[in-house]
Amino acid sequence: MTLITQASPETVPLYVPYVGAREESYVQEAIASRKLDGPDGPFARRATTLLERYTGSPHALLAPSCTQALEIAAFLLDLEPGDEVIVPSYTFPPTASAFVLRGAVPVYVDCRPDTLNLDERLVEAAITERTRAIVVMHYAGVACAMDEIGEIAGRHGLPVIEDNAHGLTGSYHGRGLGSLGALGALSFQQTKNVQCGEGGALLVNDPALLERAEIVRDKGTDRCQYFRGEVDKYRWVDVGSSYLLSDMLAAFLTAQLEELPDIQRRRLGVWDTYHRELAGWAERTAIKTPSVPAGCTHPAHIYYLVPPDAATTGALLDHLAGHGVRAAIHFQPLHTSPAGRRYGRTAPGGCPVTERVAECLIRLPLYAGMTGAQVARVVDALTSFEPRGKESR
Ligand SMILES: *Cc1c(COP(=O)(O)O)cnc(C)c1O
Repeated sequence: MTLITQASPETVPLYVPYVGAREESYVQEAIASRKLDGPDGPFARRATTLLERYTGSPHALLAPSCTQALEIAAFLLDLEPGDEVIVPSYTFPPTASAFVLRGAVPVYVDCRPDTLNLDERLVEAAITERTRAIVVMHYAGVACAMDEIGEIAGRHGLPVIEDNAHGLTGSYHGRGLGSLGALGALSFQQTKNVQCGEGGALLVNDPALLERAEIVRDKGTDRCQYFRGEVDKYRWVDVGSSYLLSDMLAAFLTAQLEELPDIQRRRLGVWDTYHRELAGWAERTAIKTPSVPAGCTHPAHIYYLVPPDAATTGALLDHLAGHGVRAAIHFQPLHTSPAGRRYGRTAPGGCPVTERVAECLIRLPLYAGMTGAQVARVVDALTSFEPRGKESR
């Protein structure tokens, strides 16, 4: 493939939220139906069915966000003050804060240098008699080592909860991400591959948790059972909150989920082009590109680079900005963040890999509407960069 640099003055953005052909008409249809509430509107049913099909999970419950789906998961753990949950430090705050809301102490574990996922070799040492769950996050939608993590969890009788905000359509040995733990959470916030502005879902893979998950989501009431005719009136039966998604947003989401194969085809095209065109340059400059272990497929949520040191990252970000390319750093470690320190503790050995990755990692522009010319501009900008130390060597 020849890469043609177009002399376009416009900046290549980091992301552009995808909107397809059907969102508007579906939202209009929802408005016309005068059935806009949750949990069981016509579009909610369609979106739920599609999510169950894409992930292989037996039950998807739509929620207002991934954060709130994780909060439902935290209710279901019956956490008591002082209970602990194992979490990666290299993640977004809700992976930990959802459990802090229920009184738990997050215990931060370092990530693997290749996938940047929770390092399964460090999990066992972080488990104590207060541990109640292992929470994983599949960075960029590349699976954690779920066999090894599942084995450790099984030995200690702990549920695994997946923060799968990045990984819709990613898979691990043929099984959909989000369907592997007892519970999985998805995000449809507008930076994610599939979006409805703000939205999420809880995948309930352990059928024993379904009835209570529905109750927690609906203000602690058994209204879902009432709608199904299983009880003759609905009442307050448990703790809970309001975690329902309006059918107007479910309509928008349904359109996106129907367009998912096309969204994924476009995103994977961009990701694969980066990976192919940057391979030689990355090797020469000792800049690390994403690793996808055997048996894993990923949804092209993020394409990232990890330069060897923070100075190179700073120089590369300046270089890209000078070439009209918006790139960005990503997660800052939870274990050194102000609230992370206040509410949690770091597992023995600390999180040195997380600290280095957080300082060095850069995300490249990646979105479904990206043109070939835009991808080529990013590649050309990158491959014209040589790390400073190089010339003097
Ligand atoms: C985006 C994201 C979330 C939060 O998703 P919301 O739907 O905005 O609540 C949680 N975890 C990770 C890893 C994320 O990237």
